[in-house]
Amino acid sequence: AGLVVAIDGPSGSGKSTVARRVAAALALRYLDTGAMYRAVTWWLLEQGIDLRDTELAGRLAPEIPLHMGLDPDEPTVRVGETDVAAAIRESRISTAVSLVATNLAARADLVARQKAIAADGDVVIEGRDITTVVAPDAAVRVLLTASEETRLARRAQELYGNVDATALDATRDQVARRDADDSTVARFQEAAEGVDVVDSSRMTLDETVSAVLELVEK
Ligand code: C5P
Repeated sequence: AGLVVAIDGPSGSGKSTVARRVAAALALRYLDTGAMYRAVTWWLLEQGIDLRDTELAGRLAPEIPLHMGLDPDEPTVRVGETDVAAAIRESRISTAVSLVATNLAARADLVARQKAIAADGDVVIEGRDITTVVAPDAAVRVLLTASEETRLARRAQELYGNVDATALDATRDQVARRDADDSTVARFQEAAEGVDVVDSSRMTLDETVSAVLELVEK
């Protein structure tokens, strides 16, 4: 099988953008696993399922017709015939997604789908548990970090288009809550053995992409 590049990192680390750019530079496919958790969340809510009903949500997860388009220049997310790329970024999904991420049966199903894609190789996969669970044997494994301050500023820029005090305050709670939710799912703060850490706090996007590409060439 071809090259697999595994990239983990917390929200705001810039991992999605970096992973896409790395995939494009190396002519590899690109898989955003966070989008899969989001799409499952979207679908279950669409069906009127109470996500706190773990048994039901876990039983339905394997039936979801999830189609991930893996072109890094134009990644797509479809559930059945529905393009959900925009809908899965809504804040109602961001708020609810941890209920799916902490659902062990739903998680097992998504990890199996992700492992099948990893097995075909030629792919950059990003998420929270890629270096440890989905693709622990990947040739290149990277933990992309950034200081809390940097992640906060990047999120504020993304959500509000600026980094003034109001935007930072409005973003702070969200970032803290997401980190707390995610810490019950995956310990992404520390790199597992053999995983290279790239701290992007003081790097531009181009520099961060170059740093990851250097790890690939190593
Ligand atoms: O990366 P993104 O913010 O889109 O991920 C959405 C959520 O999906 C995360 O907050 C996390 O709870 C979950 N997730 C996960 N494991 C992954 C990727 C994402 O639990 N590999």
